Amino acid sequence: MSLISVIAPCFNEQETLPELYRQVTERVESSGHDLELVLVDDGSRDRTPELIEQLSIDDPRVRGVKLSRNFGHEAAIEAGLHEATGDAVVIMDADLQDSPNALLEMITAWEEGADVAYAVRTKRKEGAVLRAAFSGFYRLAGRMMSIELPTDAGPFSLMSRPVVDTLNEMPEHHRYFPGLRAFAGFTQVPIVVERDERLAGETKYSFRKRTAGALNAIMSFSKLPLRAVITLGLISAALSIAGGLYVLIARLSGAGAAPGWASIIVVVLLLAGVQLTTLGIVGEYIGKIYDEVRKRPTFIVSQRFSEEARAQTASRRPAHRGRVEVGEGAEEVTAPGAQPVERR
Ligand code: UDP
Ligand code: MG
Repeated sequence: MSLISVIAPCFNEQETLPELYRQVTERVESSGHDLELVLVDDGSRDRTPELIEQLSIDDPRVRGVKLSRNFGHEAAIEAGLHEATGDAVVIMDADLQDSPNALLEMITAWEEGADVAYAVRTKRKEGAVLRAAFSGFYRLAGRMMSIELPTDAGPFSLMSRPVVDTLNEMPEHHRYFPGLRAFAGFTQVPIVVERDERLAGETKYSFRKRTAGALNAIMSFSKLPLRAVITLGLISAALSIAGGLYVLIARLSGAGAAPGWASIIVVVLLLAGVQLTTLGIVGEYIGKIYDEVRKRPTFIVSQRFSEEARAQTASRRPAHRGRVEVGEGAEEVTAPGAQPVERR
């Protein structure tokens, strides 16, 4: 019998949490393994933290973690991965779009030796526009990324302890979890699941957040935009040389030496456009580098709900930036009552 951790990032999920708890506990119990349910509150503004606290008081298997503000889905997943102690760790959405029935299949795959069992979604129940956007993203990502990203595989997956440890050691700031998971390797097995509709509430992703996420995903695994810029530069240089030669020959032969400032303006504008685009792309990557060197934490834990979880993590917590050593003893630099900044 092993310990299975199930991590669910929760942002304003008060309507779905009780049902999530019910279904997850039931499925994992029927698998015959022990359960640890890690509920990460990602700065919710509804009653989600209270519900998580209550669940963790009522059931010691629930480990409630509260982030100090909304850090986003990826950060909440990362926080959960650092918190989970299981032999196998499952990531699933709190809105029950990731069908708990697939949990059992994933656990079976893991028992049979898989290190990663990831859900591949069929029959998305989102609208037509969103579905087209998702398929466009996977096609583009498949072409551009330096890793093999499985199509239509989101965060929903089970990972063995070695894979989780590997992911936890990856220090990068801009995270795209399905990409990092594919990058990690080990034995990966796809599990085909239907993506259900959200049980209650609305999607927590705006169009802007989704676009930013897709761009970030591609940029964290592809240098292709930078290379494309080189090609663009070479092409425009070749064009300029050809144009220059043409003008020179026309001038010397005395034929067609019209004033032609229109063509000059066109070329100038074209080049200015190419240069600005280039600068923009380079700037995006520099921005990412800036974020990486600043090394700000990707998430901050403000509270752990169960006493037991708190005691355990305190004992395995390494030296970190939230504390400064003053003479003999260690002094907290964070506000009284708050947990110090987690990791890095
Ligand atoms: N989520 C989060 N922080 C956020 C946005 C979303 O923790 O800033 C969680 C949310 O509670 C849910 C999961 O991430 O458990 C997926 O979000 P959502 O269902 O809104 O996305 P969709 O399924 O529509 O892509
Ligand atoms: Mg959802």
